[in-house]
Order: sequence, then C-alpha cells, then structure tokens
Amino acid sequence: MSTVPRPGGGLLVGVDVGGSKIAVLVTDSALAVRGRYALPTNVGAPDRAVEVIGAAIGAALDDAGADLGSVVAVGIGVPGRVDPLAGSVSQAVNLGWHDLPLGPALSAALGVPVSLENDVRAAALGLLDRRILGDVEDFAYLSIGTGISAGIVLDGRLRRGPRGMAGEIGHIVVDASGPACPCGLRGCLETLAAGPAIARRAAEALAADGRSSLARVSHLDAADVYEAAAGGDALAIRVADEVGTLLARAVHLLAMAYDIEVVAVGGGVARARDAFLDPLLRALDRIRDDSPLARQVLVPGVVHLLPAGDTGAWGGIALARSAAAMASPTAVGTEVADG
Ligand SMILES: [Zn+2]
Repeated sequence: MSTVPRPGGGLLVGVDVGGSKIAVLVTDSALAVRGRYALPTNVGAPDRAVEVIGAAIGAALDDAGADLGSVVAVGIGVPGRVDPLAGSVSQAVNLGWHDLPLGPALSAALGVPVSLENDVRAAALGLLDRRILGDVEDFAYLSIGTGISAGIVLDGRLRRGPRGMAGEIGHIVVDASGPACPCGLRGCLETLAAGPAIARRAAEALAADGRSSLARVSHLDAADVYEAAAGGDALAIRVADEVGTLLARAVHLLAMAYDIEVVAVGGGVARARDAFLDPLLRALDRIRDDSPLARQVLVPGVVHLLPAGDTGAWGGIALARSAAAMASPTAVGTEVADG
C-alpha cells in the first residue's frame, strides 16, 4: 500500500489504547471530527495488538465513510513507557506489553506513518494542540483513572524528560506505610487515590462499618462510590473527602514544582464530575487558607475539570498531526479549528 496521501484526503487518526477499551477518532486536517469508534475490550496479548488496533481504526474509518487511502498519519497513546523515536512500547504494565515495536508493525500493516507516545503525555499534547486551555502555555494534565499520571507542558512545549517519565507522579510516595505498589514501593499516590484504590477504601470502610448504601453494591468501583457520595451516603462522602485531600496535594505539588497556571483534570475517575471535584476543591481551599505561599500558586480556577470525552484520542490526533507534518509538510494544514 502506498504511503502517499490521496488527493483530497488528509485524514488524521487518533487512538487511545486503554486498559479496558480502545477509542479511535478520525478528523480532517482542520481537526473537524469525521468519524469515531470505541471498542469496549482490552487490546489483549501483544501479538494481537496490531490486528485489534487495526480493526478498531478500520471501524472508525467506516464511520467516517473513508478508508486507509485517505489517512496521512495515525497517532497512538499507550498507557506505559514509550520510546517515541523507535515507536516501541518499552513497558505497559496494565497491558502486559514489554518492548513491543507497535509503531513500525502497525505502520507496515496500515501503510501510513504511525506515531506513539505515553497516553497521558499525548493527551497533554492534544490539549495544547487544540488550545483547549486558551493561551495557557504552562499547564499539567492530571489523569486519574486506573492509575494516576500527569503530562507537563512548559513554555508551550510538552516536557518528556530523557526517559519519557516527566509527570509520573502516581508513584510519588505519600504514605510509606501504605499499600504495596507494583513499582516496588509502598503508599504511592495511585495506590491511595486512583480508581481501584477508591473502591478498596470504600470496601475497607464497609467491612469496618456496614452502614452504607454501598453495602448493596456488588463489584464496587470508584463510580459507585461517587454516586453514593452524591446521594448523601456518609461513608462514601468520607472516602471522597480522603481522596480529594490527596489529589489536592498532587495539584499543589504540580503547581509548586512547575509554577504552572492550570491543572487540567481528566481520566475515568473524573467522570463522576462534581462528586469527584468538590472534595478536591474544598481540600485546595484548606491549603490556601493555611498558606499565603500556596495562595500565590493555587490561583482561583487552577483546577480545570475537562469534559468527559475523547481527551486521549485527541492526544493521538495531535501525534498524528506532527507525524504527518514530518512525513509530508504539505499533506496537512496547520490551521486549528475552534474548540
Ligand atoms: Zn508506585
């Protein structure tokens, strides 16, 4: 298959590979959405990754009424350590992938350039690319889902770091006697405040004191906890407050470390909206009340809750856009649509 874009084509494909779903977005060069597809399953074993991701891309292109001949580049965000130059996934613990050359393999299968990046770093790039935060050039994207991680943008550029680890704050220890983390330490932020940790906190509280509407829920998850909190359940409210306190410290840490203007918050757990956000904002207010120094960096509006949606897949679009620009500078416009 030719890698030369077809006249009148110029489609970009963004892919967000998650632990439990693959989301694909197809846009034109002005970033208008042309098609989308979400596959609600794990991508599976590494030897099936190309096939499964390729099929999801095919379904999104069907939705767009297009085919691979119109695609100038594909960008993929993967939850793990990525070597963007080699296009390989060094390690994606939740997917069970190690040293997987996904980029070259997918590029060979699809016949288009494929660009790879860590999913949260890619999402931060997508927010910058589309100016979702307006003219803000110093911000973090804090993702709270199965894990916790941040993507850092400084002076209008994504900060990767020499190992691509900039922003991996989910593995900062906040309680050295806390639960064991797969990274080898104890009490990492994500063992205390990510989705599975929120469910575990609620289950532990239930075991100690069963008086909660959550006692009726089987297979408790973070969304159940926030739903119960929104309904006035005292146990769930307590858990939401504990998590909000930890996440407010994470926001404070990001603001102090980088003097950033905005921490954009997203990820699966943040889909609980106000029930998730309000405890975090109250905890931020307590930090501000105690510290004039904190007040200087934690400006009003420092936390920006992103709309639930395609933040990850838009990150893939941003990767695809820069890959397309590198592969063929005239193939893709540089105009950015509003929104
Ligand atoms: Zn850890």
